[in-house]
Amino acid sequence: MKRTLVIIAFIFGFTVMSFSQVVDRDRSKYAVNNFAEDDKYTMLEPYETVSVEEPHGRKVKNIIFMIGDGMGLEQISAAWVCNGGKLNLDNFTNVGIQRTYSANKLVTDSAAAGTALATGHKTNNGMVAMTPDSVAVKSLAEEAMEKGKRAGAAVTCRVNDATPAVFFSHSATRKSQEDIVEQMAGSGVYFLSGGGYKFWRNREDGKDITEQVKAKGYTYVETKEDLMAVEEGPVVALMDSHELQPALDRGDILPASVEKALQLLDNKKGFFLMVEGSCIDDGGHDNKAGKTMEEIFDFDRTIGLVLEWAAKDGETLVIVTGDHATGGMTLLSGSLDDKRIRVNYSTTGHNGIALPVFAWGPHSEDFIGVYENTELSDKIRALIK
Ligand SMILES: [Zn+2]
Repeated sequence: MKRTLVIIAFIFGFTVMSFSQVVDRDRSKYAVNNFAEDDKYTMLEPYETVSVEEPHGRKVKNIIFMIGDGMGLEQISAAWVCNGGKLNLDNFTNVGIQRTYSANKLVTDSAAAGTALATGHKTNNGMVAMTPDSVAVKSLAEEAMEKGKRAGAAVTCRVNDATPAVFFSHSATRKSQEDIVEQMAGSGVYFLSGGGYKFWRNREDGKDITEQVKAKGYTYVETKEDLMAVEEGPVVALMDSHELQPALDRGDILPASVEKALQLLDNKKGFFLMVEGSCIDDGGHDNKAGKTMEEIFDFDRTIGLVLEWAAKDGETLVIVTGDHATGGMTLLSGSLDDKRIRVNYSTTGHNGIALPVFAWGPHSEDFIGVYENTELSDKIRALIK
């Protein structure tokens, strides 16, 4: 009898545990999914995608550069299957291919790839907007600000991580986090959102960079709600100590932040905005299909709202690409009808496959072809006027 009770209690406990996990996952606004096995993923609630008309023949006033960190065609293809054969990326008609190798490695890291995309210069892995001999080179964001435009970045990692850092700072190493933060704070950036307040106000050097930006006239906030209430830039929003929470837990922070960025950056001279799906890379490093898919869906939903905004504006060029792919993922099997995939991975690191470039809006046809990641940057720079 005692043993039966123990067994019943055990089963009951186990059921409650499993149930609470399900409830936990229900916090996702995007999908309810099966994370039981890392190589499989089933999408239970696909999202609707937008359908927009692409404006042609007009000038480029605004540029929105969207980078999926660790996002290659393999991750995009898998996400397309899981969402039942549709993504907001399907709206893009002009597509190119960019090669990602860095100055010193066939397989790049985010700092060297970001430097190529942001400045048009290949550099060594680990370096931030500098050539291999440590000469600072001008980023697209800096170019835009010089031309009187506003510039911003919205990411899901810490704002001082490699990809946002290459647009607003210069360093011989991505590891100089506190220095990068000080440079970003002094860069003239108009909108900055993501995580990382530890590197701004709980620093080893004792400085409080959040007080410095406030003294310069920035609105500084640490929650999404406070960011949504901001009516005027410039603004710095650091909504977690390090990275933001994974997509399942953070909800719609990225799309909401980007919507706010568009509202605040929009002005008669135009703007340059970099948006990063920063944590797609983490799913690749972890070899977890579910984590990768959730991050791509979050990024693709953000692409949807950007396209709707840009379609209304008519003078906004939207570019979507990755910095490198991660995990060496292969789509092995699955079903469009059942919205499921099975994948495998060949590495927990990055890989060296060339990446798709999706272009939409005025001058999108300039991005057709096969070219270096640095040439992609050059093509964008030529349109910053
Ligand atoms: Zn990575």
